[in-house]
Amino acid sequence: MTTTRFAPSPTGRLHLGHAYSAVLGRRLGERWLLRIEDLDPGRARPEHVEGIMEDLDWLGLEPDGEPLVQSSRTQLYAAALDRLRAAGLVYPCFCTRADIAASLTAPHGDAGSGYPGSCRGLPDDPERRAAVPHSWRLDAARAITVAGGTPGWTEQDGRTFPADPSQIGDAILARKDAPSSYHLACVVDDAASGVTLVVRGEDLRPSTPVQRLLQQLLGLPEPTYLHHPLVTHEDGRRLAKRDQAPTLAAMREAGVDGPVLARQLATGLLPTGFRLSSD
Ligand code: GLU
Repeated sequence: MTTTRFAPSPTGRLHLGHAYSAVLGRRLGERWLLRIEDLDPGRARPEHVEGIMEDLDWLGLEPDGEPLVQSSRTQLYAAALDRLRAAGLVYPCFCTRADIAASLTAPHGDAGSGYPGSCRGLPDDPERRAAVPHSWRLDAARAITVAGGTPGWTEQDGRTFPADPSQIGDAILARKDAPSSYHLACVVDDAASGVTLVVRGEDLRPSTPVQRLLQQLLGLPEPTYLHHPLVTHEDGRRLAKRDQAPTLAAMREAGVDGPVLARQLATGLLPTGFRLSSD
């Protein structure tokens, strides 16, 4: 049975791009799940969770089962991080954003993900860890060695994509202000929900190599992926708040028929002024 999921972050109202992704996931999934990715305490808002429910309802898309809310599952992410920690595959990072920005101009190479590796290899200092807020980063080089290489992935159309180490940096797995990063929570939840096909926009393709590596390290099953083209304005501009991309709420208020829009999106037909753009 194909299980897909729609995993919006409740940091704003949904737009046409979200609707396209949701419709595609619903069409391809015999089981279609909703996951609320609300781990960013600075940006996630309860009113946007309600907005997501309203918008899906308006489109006539009904998720199977109860939505999974990431903020209520932090113990599972902590347990996954513990396993990686026990295997020596993560390290605490005390850098501030300013430290990272400053060190990036220094001539000592890039460890990937834009992080120069300043805290990698520091001797463990439990006192410092107890006193100073820190994140936890993947030791990518070690992780790749332990995993026996960088696992690639398969797209729904059968194309296979190899990954290479340069695509995987010392990604943050738990943040100073959040118990898990997107990558860790995503792989834990995709596995826990039995997701077999990950349907998401092409803009998230760079996340796939590190997520495949985490799946391998944690012994989680490998889903298939569909990284779909993004909905853009006719002239190719991305849908962004600053461009006044119409939200689904605004379209609803303007009298657009939700189920009709959903049926059109399912056939790849977009409202006038928008198109699908592939990179
Ligand atoms: N929460 C992510 C977003 O809204 C999607 C993550 C995913 O589908 O893997 O962009």
